[in-house]
Amino acid sequence: MAATKIARRDPTEHDVQIEILFCGICHSDVHSVRNEWSEFMPTVYPIVPGHEIVGRVIQVGSAVTKFKPGDFAAVGCMVDSDGTCPECQAGFEQFCPNMTLTFNSPDKHLGGVTYGGYSESIVVDQRFVLRVPSNLDLAGTAPLLCAGITTYSPMHHWKVGKGKKVGVVGLGGLGHMGVKIAHALGAHVVVFTTSPKKKEDALRLGADEIIVSRNVDEMQKHVESFDFILDTVSADHDINAYLNLLRRDGNITLVGAPPKPLSVAAFALIPRRRSLSGSNIGGVAETQEMLDFCGKHSITADVEVIPIQKVNEAYERLLQSDVKYRFSIDMASLKSE
Ligand code: NAP
Ligand code: ZN
Repeated sequence: MAATKIARRDPTEHDVQIEILFCGICHSDVHSVRNEWSEFMPTVYPIVPGHEIVGRVIQVGSAVTKFKPGDFAAVGCMVDSDGTCPECQAGFEQFCPNMTLTFNSPDKHLGGVTYGGYSESIVVDQRFVLRVPSNLDLAGTAPLLCAGITTYSPMHHWKVGKGKKVGVVGLGGLGHMGVKIAHALGAHVVVFTTSPKKKEDALRLGADEIIVSRNVDEMQKHVESFDFILDTVSADHDINAYLNLLRRDGNITLVGAPPKPLSVAAFALIPRRRSLSGSNIGGVAETQEMLDFCGKHSITADVEVIPIQKVNEAYERLLQSDVKYRFSIDMASLKSE
């Protein structure tokens, strides 16, 4: 990756211009930069990734009521939607057929594609700008905008809470947020990891139990016991091993997005009326709800703050599952490019 100049539109009357202070590095950035999702959303180069954005408002349009210059503000994975379709009307902007992603999505204003948060500033319609709880550290808040909402939304939908046994597969950026949120919701939280060295961290983050997923005996002890499992794994893996751990009517939700299809055994689903589903980030109102929830429970991501100059190294480490547990880029470092 290398520095380049990009254009941002002048704020229209509904726009908020934000100086970006921190931007998290999501594994989706890596998938996109490498064009690994070419079948579903081919990458248009040059790409500016980044959809975990926190910054300071520097300018607002005349019709903006939610923000004023100087406020802290955040932007996640979406910057626009049509606002009129049934999904938008129901608060599910993330499923709007005309939704604009923060990067690599057709840009309605400037043509070309949208450019994301690895940049100095961004201009976004106020509908898609979120308020940041004042008690939270900004570097650790940035990852909430994707990793936070992507784990909060399905847990909310599947009623994770007290008395529920909940699994989180993969202790990376999404996974560690899933653990913190499930713990705050009062669930019994079990982490499945391929990295035995993450055991102590998992407990510190709020897990009640840790299972090294390659250990068949450990897995076997938990057969038919889970109400809900959140699968955050970014690469090919055996989902049937986890389906077998669900009790009757239990659900596994996939949020991890491996480029290749997973194979599912019918007999892992049928016997206990189990279900397998997916989930895509969350709507705007739900994202604000998640931020407020995190403010109330003092939840932020565990971040390694890096300058932009270390971004290529960070991608290599992410591919080795070597991050504790999210990289957050200090965007002030861009000034020395
Ligand atoms: P990440 O930080 O790299 O974490 C992924 C974790 O998966 C790793 O830490 C590792 O955990 C585990 N893992 C990696 N390779 C594995 C393998 N071959 N077999 C088994 N486990 C493996 O990534 P992330 O940023 O959390 O993103 C995870 C996935 O979610 C990505 O595919 C991303 O694109 C997707 N995503 C989806 C949404 C959505 O809306 N649905 C939103 C954001 C991201 P252990 O070391 O603990 O095993
Ligand atoms: Zn993301």
